[in-house]
Amino acid sequence: MINFPVSDWMPDAKIPSGPIQDKWSKYKLESKLINPNNKRKYTVLVVGSGLAGASAAATLAELGYNVKCFCYQDSPRRAHSIAAQGGINAAKNYQNDGDSVYRLFYDTVKGGDFRAREANVYRLAEVSSNIIDQCVAQGVPFGREYGGLLDNRSFGGAQLKRTFYARGQTGQQLLLGAYQALEKEVAKGHIEMFSRHEMMDLVLVDGEAKGIVTRNLVTGEIKSYAGDTVLLCTGGYGNVFFLSTNAMGCNVTAAYKAYKRGAFFANPCFTQIHPTCIPVKGDYQSKLTLMSESLRNSGRIWVPKSRETAEKIRKKEIKPSDVPEEERDYYLERKYPSFGNLAPRDISSRAAKEACDDGRGVAVTGKGVFLDFADEIKRMGREWIDGQYGNLFDMYEEITDDDPHETPMMIYPASHYTMGGLWVDYNLMSNVKGLHVLGEANFSDHGANRLGASALMQGLSDGYFVIPATLPAYLTTTKPGAVTTAAPEFKAAEDEVKERINKLLNVKGTKTVDSFHRELGLIMWEDCGMARTEESLTHAIERIPQLRKEFW
Ligand SMILES: Cc1cc2nc3c(=O)[nH]c(=O)nc-3n(C[C@H](O)[C@H](O)[C@H](O)COP(=O)(O)OP(=O)(O)OC[C@H]3O[C@@H](n4cnc5c(N)ncnc54)[C@H](O)[C@@H]3O)c2cc1C
Repeated sequence: MINFPVSDWMPDAKIPSGPIQDKWSKYKLESKLINPNNKRKYTVLVVGSGLAGASAAATLAELGYNVKCFCYQDSPRRAHSIAAQGGINAAKNYQNDGDSVYRLFYDTVKGGDFRAREANVYRLAEVSSNIIDQCVAQGVPFGREYGGLLDNRSFGGAQLKRTFYARGQTGQQLLLGAYQALEKEVAKGHIEMFSRHEMMDLVLVDGEAKGIVTRNLVTGEIKSYAGDTVLLCTGGYGNVFFLSTNAMGCNVTAAYKAYKRGAFFANPCFTQIHPTCIPVKGDYQSKLTLMSESLRNSGRIWVPKSRETAEKIRKKEIKPSDVPEEERDYYLERKYPSFGNLAPRDISSRAAKEACDDGRGVAVTGKGVFLDFADEIKRMGREWIDGQYGNLFDMYEEITDDDPHETPMMIYPASHYTMGGLWVDYNLMSNVKGLHVLGEANFSDHGANRLGASALMQGLSDGYFVIPATLPAYLTTTKPGAVTTAAPEFKAAEDEVKERINKLLNVKGTKTVDSFHRELGLIMWEDCGMARTEESLTHAIERIPQLRKEFW
């Protein structure tokens, strides 16, 4: 049995008093404001230019703050938010199917296993409609119905349609909207953009976050930047599992550096395993491709009822279409009739694992289940299906060489999203004063499981609507421009960064960085993935320090 140190001291979440539906309005009414002429005296360092970072940087700059924005990609447009496919939730109730702010709040809290901070979730549901209006005004091409109104589809954990989408490229289109808003402010001189700059450390002066140390990824130059506050919008840590749906570049270095400087990390075990990823093909694969949850609107998930039939499919002795209807187990429809194939992600993932552990998996490795579109193609026609999911079908065919119009897709769960992250209060400030954390990098809104289409909503809510209102709570306590890079803490942090880089470059190891990543990722997946036991967790916690020692 491992005994982890437990602290009984909790930082103050600063949740406003009063009924849940009034908290945000009351907060905004009572909060301090900074007059327009004073805003430009403050410098805000925004690290990250995904949906959370780009929307925050653009909005704060438009309000008059002086913003510096950093990302490691060659353009803010390439932040990982671009990968989001399925859609973004909002309680608009365009479908008249019974949606409301309260229902979105309730579904999100229930979907998160009642472990979310409810005041934050209610605020998220409240501003969800504003996000759609904002994005439409920016020109985001959401899918529309024949009559011209914005269309909606369903996502897991909801019994109604509230998901706005742009084909299977919603993240990309939303990011283009935020990027244009950001570039407008860059052109006006209100934002200075630093692409290809990686944040290497957080600088605290008198215990408050006042700057960062970066490395220019083109020239290698190490340089410090000072500001009045730092906003980390640097995404999640899903890649700790190696084969995840995240891009290989998604690392958690910025949040980790903040953690090393004293920022609390909350609920790291809350990792989302997404049920619809293309199954692993071989040992040299470095990431997995997500097939959007939106496909579960139309696809039916099944495995054969018998192990013998599953084995014949694995050995390619029979085709899926050879399995008669009565020999198929549509296990989600059977177990969860009210949600069916749109059961929440954690439930769907566990059910797929159970079917495969029972010997009824269908991919070559035995780790795969079918997502079958035959019925929907028969009902709605191929053209309709392509209009909804065309790019996803193309992507699947290019990767697997199977046409999902003809034969069912094969899917299996994989690590996808992290509900844990840096702890924040209602103002989105961490326990380190001056350090704010937005988007997937914080822990705040999703509890133990994120419902589909809620991450885009949270990132944009944090950036466009929440932080502009909550930032003055900290800024009004600090004198603008009081700290510059001349403070000794900057030089000390730069020296530490240089020493770490030198140590790494001189390690003279014989293994690649990726091989360490793979080993760590496999330990995490096997021991702390979809199923966790005392034995597996004990194994992991013994093995990881050994690996770390070998790495350094
Ligand atoms: C394949 C896929 C599909 C998804 N589909 C959906 C969907 O349909 N609906 C939904 O709601 N959610 C979806 N998600 C989740 C959602 O896309 C993400 O949670 C969300 O986009 C994260 O946004 P973000 O702004 O917090 O971080 P990101 O978009 O990951 O941006 C992180 C930013 O931080 C920068 N950065 C990171 N570290 C550093 C550093 N050390 N120094 C400098 N810069 C740094 C990066 O350059 C980048 O600009 C999907 C996720 C994946 C992986």
